[in-house]
Amino acid sequence: MKQHIDTAPIWEVYRQDCECPLCLLNAKVEAQNVDYFLGESVMEPSQRVEVNKKGFCADHFKMMYDAGNRLGLALMTHTYMKESMKALKESAQRARDAAAAEAGKPIFKRLGGSKGAGLAEVASEIRTFENTCLMCERIAESMDRYMYTVLYMYRHEAEFPKLFAESKGMCLRHYAQAIEMAPKYLSGDLLKNFVDTLTDIEMKSFERLEGEIEWFTNKFDYRNQDKPWGNSKDAVKRSVNKLGHQVVVDD
Ligand SMILES: [Zn+2]
Ligand SMILES: [Zn+2]
Repeated sequence: MKQHIDTAPIWEVYRQDCECPLCLLNAKVEAQNVDYFLGESVMEPSQRVEVNKKGFCADHFKMMYDAGNRLGLALMTHTYMKESMKALKESAQRARDAAAAEAGKPIFKRLGGSKGAGLAEVASEIRTFENTCLMCERIAESMDRYMYTVLYMYRHEAEFPKLFAESKGMCLRHYAQAIEMAPKYLSGDLLKNFVDTLTDIEMKSFERLEGEIEWFTNKFDYRNQDKPWGNSKDAVKRSVNKLGHQVVVDD
């Protein structure tokens, strides 16, 4: 991978106390993308063509809606709808044809596993509109680049492995991504060392969180009501974020 390596954002998030430094970056990249799609990209014809082709998932439509720039969102949504309607018209025709074919079947053929298969196919075509998302694609590209940077720094920046080993691991999504990408950029003892360290801090984090969330539930027992919370006050939020990748951004 030949490209400019920007290590500063990785240093920055790894110096913060959190359950997944990559999730901190993900949130930043996501916010930048929301701004980009509501602003700059609206004026860029090539980007509009891409948006018209792929659209956005429900989560990212919601983020753009909540961001409040209604004109930017309206302009983009208008052309995306126009483009989508061409394909949707064809889907609509296929749905009508499939229903007519289904209705025309003799009674003994209307039962069994293939009942409604033609309509199910059209339904899955319609679902692709919601399931493809240009913003998800761009964020995934950025996160791949950041994960590569983490691996690059593990190899080339003398101080980084120590900071990495002191971190609390990652959310499950980024943990899986790190394990998958590691052998592409690291090898030999360094690869082994990285995976050993990562799995070690990850398992320790899960054990710690499991204890913290258990104490959270025990605090609801009146006998514990005067005992200190310790680190458990926000254990639910940190646990769901560990399991589900930034499910809860703020309380
Ligand atoms: Zn994460
Ligand atoms: Zn998306």
